[in-house]
Amino acid sequence: MISCKEYVLKRKEELKKEISTYTEKPHLVVIQVDNDPASNSYIKGKKKDAEEVGIKLTHTQIDSSKMSQVELEDMVRELGKTRSVHGIIIQLPIPDKYDVNKLLECIPKEKDVDGFRKDSLFKPCTPKGIIDWLKFNNYDFVGKDVVVLGRSKIVGLPLVNMLIYEGSTVTCCNSKTKPYSRLHALRKANMVISAVGKPKFLDSHDFYDIDGNNHLEVIVDVGINRDENGKLCGDVDREDCEKYLPNTYITTVPGGVGKLTVLSLMENTVEAYKRMKIQKESD
Ligand code: NAP
Repeated sequence: MISCKEYVLKRKEELKKEISTYTEKPHLVVIQVDNDPASNSYIKGKKKDAEEVGIKLTHTQIDSSKMSQVELEDMVRELGKTRSVHGIIIQLPIPDKYDVNKLLECIPKEKDVDGFRKDSLFKPCTPKGIIDWLKFNNYDFVGKDVVVLGRSKIVGLPLVNMLIYEGSTVTCCNSKTKPYSRLHALRKANMVISAVGKPKFLDSHDFYDIDGNNHLEVIVDVGINRDENGKLCGDVDREDCEKYLPNTYITTVPGGVGKLTVLSLMENTVEAYKRMKIQKESD
C-alpha cells in the first residue's frame, strides 16, 4: 500500500500547484483558547502544511479568563461574516466554561472546514482522510467486514456511515460492548479502524480465530497516546502485530492518520474557497 506519508506528500504537491493559480490565497482562521500543549503541537502541524501548500493561516489565541461565551460567539460570528476568511476552526478541547456546540453553531456551515456541525458542507477531517487514502490505494470496500472501535461524533460515527456507503459491512464497538462480541467481530474482520485512545489496546491475539486463521488486511490506527516512556503511540501494539500479522498493513503513529487529518483540513479549506469564489461571481 502507498503509505499515508507518501499519499499526503503527493496530494500536497497537487494542492500547491492548484493554489498557485488562484488570484488570492485561501484563508483559514484557527481559534485557540488558552495554551493546551497538545493543541499547540497540532496547530504547529496545521501551520506547516498550510504554509507548504499556500494557504494563509491566521492563528487567533484567546485567554479564557478574559472572554465570555457571548464575546467568543460574537468573535466567531464576525469572522463568519468576513469575506476574506474562507474557513474557521476552533481547536478542541476548550475549557468547560464554554458551550462548544453553541460556538460551532456560530461558524457558518460554508466555513465549517472541520466538518463538526451537523449541517456542515464538509466531511469531518479524520474520517475523510482515512477513506480518501484507502480509495487512493484502490481498497475494495464492497462486501468487506470492517470493525470501527469508538463512536465519537468526529471519528467513529461518521466513519461508520461512510464505510456503509462504500458497501462494507460495519460493526461499531464502544466502551459498553461485551468483550466477547468485540472479539467475535475482530476475528472475522478484513479491516479494523481503532479510535479508542488506549495504548496497546489491540494485539495480534485479537485477530486470530480458533483455527489460527485471520482475515485482516488493514489496521488503521487513529489513537494518539503516550506509552510508558512518554513516546507517542497509537492503540495498536505495533511490535506484536508486525511480528504476528505479517500480511496486514498497519498505519503508523505518528505519521499516519494525523497527517491524513491535516491534509483533509487543507482540502476542505480549498473547497470552501472555491465555493465562495463561485458564489461571489454569481452575486
Ligand atoms: P473519544 O471521544 O476519545 O472517545 C473514545 C471512544 O472509544 C468512545 O466512543 C468510547 O466509547 C470508545 N471506547 C472506549 N473503550 C472502548 C472499548 N473497550 N472498546 C471499544 N470502544 C471503546 O474519541 P475520539 O475523539 O474519536 O478519539 C479517539 C482517539 O483518537 C484519541 O486517542 C484521539 O487522540 C485520537 N484522534 C486522533 C486523530 C488523528 O488525527 N490522528 C483525530 C481525532 C482523534 P463510549 O462512547 O462508550 O465512551
